Amino acid sequence: MDIKDLQRENIRTLKPYSTARDEFKGQASVFLDANENSFGSPLPANYNRYPDPLQLDLKDAISKIKGVPIENTFLGNGSDEAIDLIFRAFCNPGKDNVIILPPTYGMYEVSANINDVEIRKVDLLSNFQLDLEKIAESIDKQTKIIFICSPNNPTGNSINREDIETILANFKGLVVIDEAYINFARQKTFIQELTEYANLVVLQTFSKAWGLAALRLGMAFSSRQVIDILNKVKPPYNINQATQDLALAAVENIGTVNDWIKITVSERERLSTALAALPIVQKVYPSDANFILVAVNDALAIYNLLVDKGIIVRDRSKVRLCEGCLRITIGTVEENNALISILENLS
Ligand code: PMP
Repeated sequence: MDIKDLQRENIRTLKPYSTARDEFKGQASVFLDANENSFGSPLPANYNRYPDPLQLDLKDAISKIKGVPIENTFLGNGSDEAIDLIFRAFCNPGKDNVIILPPTYGMYEVSANINDVEIRKVDLLSNFQLDLEKIAESIDKQTKIIFICSPNNPTGNSINREDIETILANFKGLVVIDEAYINFARQKTFIQELTEYANLVVLQTFSKAWGLAALRLGMAFSSRQVIDILNKVKPPYNINQATQDLALAAVENIGTVNDWIKITVSERERLSTALAALPIVQKVYPSDANFILVAVNDALAIYNLLVDKGIIVRDRSKVRLCEGCLRITIGTVEENNALISILENLS
């Protein structure tokens, strides 16, 4: 499979925007090439200058943590930007289609709709695993992408590795594995498989385990061909200097992040056990993420009662296959205790 043939024709022939910083790379002391404010910025850092369009320092730091080379790494304004760019680079509006596997993360569908790309939905099985047969039946020549969210939002489970490998080995389009919640999972990441499959795209994010949702920083790891295409299509300065500076500082604090991951996982197990013991709870689904899906007797009533007490969870009870379910993010020990004690008093 040649990735170049997968991209849209207008993208293949696109001449990308060339920034001042693309044209001159080297040492100089006077920069009069980008119409910046030469006097400075009202802030202490060099914010009067445009940031590095390819974020090489930050990618280098990420590469040291992930073991993925810089040329296989793309950074987006959140994973949501990477999702949108993948549509724009690879899917012809009104012609191509993508496969999504509900119940799953909502942005694949929204991005497809924004880009006028047909969506083919293949529901997960009742155990929230892939229906490989139906997926195979849904693929045709115009199917460009299959989105697999693992661990899946909102169900919390990881998708069976062999099933994902089957798709990777047989599907002739891009396989996007969204690993936003991978740091909380027992399963291992797919980023080690990038050299095996040119059509594999792995999405990760700084918004979850890293505790930086407000910065908007997402990662896409893929073959050189895919990354080059995304770089061609992206807005020139999609990651601002403040985000690059703060994320570089954050990766120095990986120890704290790893401590939070451990607490989150142990709290997930404690909260799951406590909730499962309550009469109002019908089922606590096993989770590999930083949230749990819980089937309760009356989801809306419990949701409203928690709102009255100042605790907000996500009502997923109208979502197919999640009927009657609330999705609950793992909080701090104190927050989880507050939740448990309110629900115990209900029972
Ligand atoms: N993927 C999944 C599965 C998510 O649940 C979310 C956020 N809820 C995202 C991606 C979005 O990540 P980001 O903040 O990096 O855009």
